[in-house]
Amino acid sequence: MRKILIQLDNDRFPSVFDAVTAYDAGAEVLLQYGNVQPSDVRDLVYGAMFTRGPADLHNSAVFIGGTDVSAGEAMLQAARDSFFGPLRVSVMLDANGCNTTAAAAVVGILSEGSVEGKKVVVLAGTGPVGQRAAALLAGEGAQVVITSRRLDRAEQTSAALRERFGVQVTAAQAATDEETAQVLEGAHAALSAGAAGVTLLPAAIWKGHPELRILADVNAVPPLGVEGAEVTWAGEDVEGKRAYGAIGIGDFKMKIHKRCLARLFEANDLILDAEEVFALAKELRM
Ligand code: NAP
Repeated sequence: MRKILIQLDNDRFPSVFDAVTAYDAGAEVLLQYGNVQPSDVRDLVYGAMFTRGPADLHNSAVFIGGTDVSAGEAMLQAARDSFFGPLRVSVMLDANGCNTTAAAAVVGILSEGSVEGKKVVVLAGTGPVGQRAAALLAGEGAQVVITSRRLDRAEQTSAALRERFGVQVTAAQAATDEETAQVLEGAHAALSAGAAGVTLLPAAIWKGHPELRILADVNAVPPLGVEGAEVTWAGEDVEGKRAYGAIGIGDFKMKIHKRCLARLFEANDLILDAEEVFALAKELRM
């Protein structure tokens, strides 16, 4: 029986990146749907649930992607709501690469050991990647601070993370270099999670930072999130810090993505969202 992956994407054209990765991860057939709204999901998922017997359902799985991460979350909820009894298929959410990228960055940050009780700053932690990374780090016991150009946005994100993940993260404003330097005081690690092509962390702040041990940047588009960084850094020792650039993190992200897709076909009842993707990433290590 062939392994069929059903790719539900909220963009007009289902992601080519996700399609190629699916084949590389072992999917034998890919059924692609674009422009999918949450209200479309139930009938699409029913097509997977009612075609194969319960013992064979692990050969069908659903991948939810697209650039709209909030819509992706609603699509995942709609898929969960469609299942009943043994009639279910495994589902992975990785809209815009949010879960796999956050998991890869956090595993990199954990490479220097536990973050329990340590201050970790997620710069521009209001986006989908930063939010998940912040939640996962807080789940590891870190004292997480997320920044935004506007304090109210950071506070809203902090409240949303408390609601969704049950974690406590501190909100801070970092709209200027002075505010960024202040937020980073006493930090063990910093993750730059801002939009593509936006520099958030000047070299003058991180290079001489006395406590900072880990530096990570997920923005691969010049100018990079961390001034003076190299995208290819994959745990290099730079200025006394273990440093990760977006391609270094991205390579590991690809391994995580493929491992998660392969895992989908091992059972018919898996939901791979941020926490589950992170658990698999920790097994793989960087
Ligand atoms: P995003 O939502 O596009 O942006 C994250 C945050 O950046 C926003 O919430 C915003 O925070 C801040 N921001 C936006 N424009 C800004 C500007 N002009 N100046 C300063 N701050 C600005 O990002 P995302 O989707 O979470 O992705 C985060 C990063 O990961 C991106 O650079 C993306 O390209 C990268 N990414 C990398 C990989 C990989 O494999 N390496 C995979 C996926 C994504 P405030 O408005 O609250 O300040």
